[in-house]
Amino acid sequence: MILTGSGRLAPAGLSPWALQVRDGRIAWIGAPADAPEGELVDLGPALVTPGLVDSHTHPVFAGDRSDEAAARLEGAPYTNGGILRTVRATREADDATLEALVEARLRAALNAGTTTVECKSGYGLSLGEEVRHLLIIGRVADRLPIRVVRTFLGAHAVPPESASMADYAAHVADEMIPAVARERLAEFVDVFADEGFFDLAATERIGRAASAAGLGLRLHAEQLRRTGAVELGVGLGAASVDHLEQLDAAGVASLAESSTVATVLPAPAIVLRDRLPPARALLDAGARVALASDANAGTFGGFGAMPLVVGLGATLLGMTVTEALTASTSGGASALQRDDLGVLRPGAAADLVAWDAEHEGAFALRLGSVRPSRVWIAGDEVALSG
Ligand SMILES: [Zn+2]
Repeated sequence: MILTGSGRLAPAGLSPWALQVRDGRIAWIGAPADAPEGELVDLGPALVTPGLVDSHTHPVFAGDRSDEAAARLEGAPYTNGGILRTVRATREADDATLEALVEARLRAALNAGTTTVECKSGYGLSLGEEVRHLLIIGRVADRLPIRVVRTFLGAHAVPPESASMADYAAHVADEMIPAVARERLAEFVDVFADEGFFDLAATERIGRAASAAGLGLRLHAEQLRRTGAVELGVGLGAASVDHLEQLDAAGVASLAESSTVATVLPAPAIVLRDRLPPARALLDAGARVALASDANAGTFGGFGAMPLVVGLGATLLGMTVTEALTASTSGGASALQRDDLGVLRPGAAADLVAWDAEHEGAFALRLGSVRPSRVWIAGDEVALSG
């Protein structure tokens, strides 16, 4: 199949363009006049990009915390009480209920142009519940064409039945991680390494257990307080450190010198009226930056929000539109250690989106309202709904 268009192929900005898809991968890219023979699909003036890669979401939860968001905006603090409220509601929900919720959330992401989504557990906080949530993600992933990368976030908060943070961290490291690895339920381990959640010693213990089990590491870092979690993550070889609202110049420098991806999440920062992460400083210093949604139960609920996130990167975080689009495609893929996703080059996965727009500037101009008109994953066109 040859896809071709008179419009723009972004973020590189090739126009006009043609692209050959073979065996689910991009086989060739160039000018239409040079295109190989094949069945032709003409996309006219539509903007075409790689499928968006959302490298940070928490889709397995029940209950509704909109009331808490409203209360916070009236001055109530953000504490771990909110997460534990979701944990209670999620533990009470049966498999069919949770599966339907996860499926609707991943469908919303796909309908908005996300072709790869990272999905964390973390609202279970016991071995049985965390395993149940990872299995649910796996079953939904089997039913939908969207690519799913699973992350075990047992260290999201300390459950009420644990004696202490250190006790629970030891349980996560010594029992939960080996079980998750043995059953191949996740590729990554994540830790909420922040004030009031998991301290650096606990995070290090869990990070080392992840490495020992052959799992990658990612951290929630420097969201609530500058703790040094970024330097710890870099030292442990984390694939990505995410949030970074409180990051300072030293932290920016340490990320720039590392291969750890800096993942910024503008949506929850706005909902929490928090500081914005230093995306411009990270890019200027040479760090690899990803933009992701952080769609979750309590601080940002938009599972179809990646087009908005691209726009927020450009309008709010000081990135150019091209930088924001790159951070939301190949940046997210780097954060998931998948260099064959989110890029337009021969050999890469043929995950593509044709948008109802003619220029990538629409992500900024139409903030959150750019929609896909057609989506392909591994070269197969995906049916969009809604
Ligand atoms: Zn998160």
